[in-house]
Amino acid sequence: MQFLSGSLDKYITDHSQDEPELLRELSRETHLKVIQPRMITGHYQGRVLSMLSKLIRPNYILEIGTYTGYSALCLAEGLQVGGSLHTIDINEELVELQRRYFDRSPYGNQIVQYTGSALDIVPAMDIVFDLVFIDAEKAEYLQYLEIVMKKTKPGSVILSDNVLWSGKVIEKVAENDKATRALQDYNRLLADHTKLETVILPVRDGLSLSRVL
Ligand code: SAH
Ligand code: CA
Repeated sequence: MQFLSGSLDKYITDHSQDEPELLRELSRETHLKVIQPRMITGHYQGRVLSMLSKLIRPNYILEIGTYTGYSALCLAEGLQVGGSLHTIDINEELVELQRRYFDRSPYGNQIVQYTGSALDIVPAMDIVFDLVFIDAEKAEYLQYLEIVMKKTKPGSVILSDNVLWSGKVIEKVAENDKATRALQDYNRLLADHTKLETVILPVRDGLSLSRVL
């Protein structure tokens, strides 16, 4: 969904950082080979993720929902020396493609891939994360937050993607539309959470920025 006019959107992209060549290639290959390529982070949002990560300067990053690895590579740009990014996806068919691009980037040996459900994998992790990016199954966002909170510390930042869900969060929701209902509950939870400060950025499909207190 576009929240701004097409021409203003283009102006913003034209006056923001260029998309790195490797990511341009990954985007092309994702659109050619992988189903549901609309899930991939695009040029502008990717630069926003990169910039946020560079400002946060994380040692440890957690990503829930790797897909073809585009957002992981953007977030990795802010990793500190000796830091690592841990990214989880339930779809094992994507692992090879992700690794091929991770290894062509300067961050190949700092990115650790996990295959399976984040709901099983995160609780078993023994890492405190400085930055978390939640971007997997929308109906599971509330559960992700619960397990992720236990792996953060005051000052950690949690980014949640697609929280405006093409604007559906303010429309009348169909009874069987679990994703939209979950996102409405999720946004309310973030806003009211006693351990989080949250702002929703109208970036692409809505990106929540939450700081752990
Ligand atoms: N972050 C990616 C896009 C992620 S798309 C980018 O911006 O490029 C959402 C991904 O979440 C899909 O690849 C899907 O396989 C994965 N997913 C769905 N449920 C999951 C779960 N429970 N645990 C981990 N990954 C999951
Ligand atoms: Ca997304």
